[in-house]
Amino acid sequence: MFITLEGIEGCGKSTQSRMIRDYLQAKGMTVTSTLEPGGSTLGTTLRQILLDPKNSDITGLTELFLYLADRSQHVSSVIRPALERGEVVLCDRFADSTVVYQGYGRGLDPKLLHQLNEVAVDATWPDLTLLLDLDPEIGLKRALTRNIQENKHATEGRFEAESLAFHSRVREGYLTWAALNRERFVVIDATGSVEATFDAIKEAIDAML
Ligand code: C5P
Repeated sequence: MFITLEGIEGCGKSTQSRMIRDYLQAKGMTVTSTLEPGGSTLGTTLRQILLDPKNSDITGLTELFLYLADRSQHVSSVIRPALERGEVVLCDRFADSTVVYQGYGRGLDPKLLHQLNEVAVDATWPDLTLLLDLDPEIGLKRALTRNIQENKHATEGRFEAESLAFHSRVREGYLTWAALNRERFVVIDATGSVEATFDAIKEAIDAML
């Protein structure tokens, strides 16, 4: 089973991903927990390049091809082998992030991005995509608090410093894309506590099992 987690900055994907992994492991399942960008050996280097503020001048298309390269390598070297071993794969961001960030967020054509994703994922699509939905103002505040707690400068990541307008487009883009792909998307309200969000996630996962 292939599960992906999507959502804007500060929606709580990393925390929920750990809780889902523990939940499925407690049920006796073997879980491969991974992320994009950066889930493969090559991907670790690509993630550093993509998130480095020094590279903020790269064009939208260059950025897109780096994400697609990361995804193609990730699917073939990590995700598909784990699925073939019968494991659950839990991935923090996947192809939908490209449609939403590079498409709805940065203005590339979402349809073209979906076609390029089809090439990159080579028929390995998630069975379930959990969209953690949150008002970007709350998300950005949470991301900022996390940065302060982790002693990171607020503008350290290339992306977290983007405007509220950008994150609002991303949020709306996610909701639009989820509505167009209802067969695998479940929208989870991530406004409440970690526990309340996880309860809603458990319901969606249990319905799949
Ligand atoms: O979720 P995580 O913090 O790992 O994502 C890293 C960053 O990459 C995010 O800030 C997100 O805005 C950005 N990103 C992007 N396009 C993608 C995937 C991630 O701009 N396709």
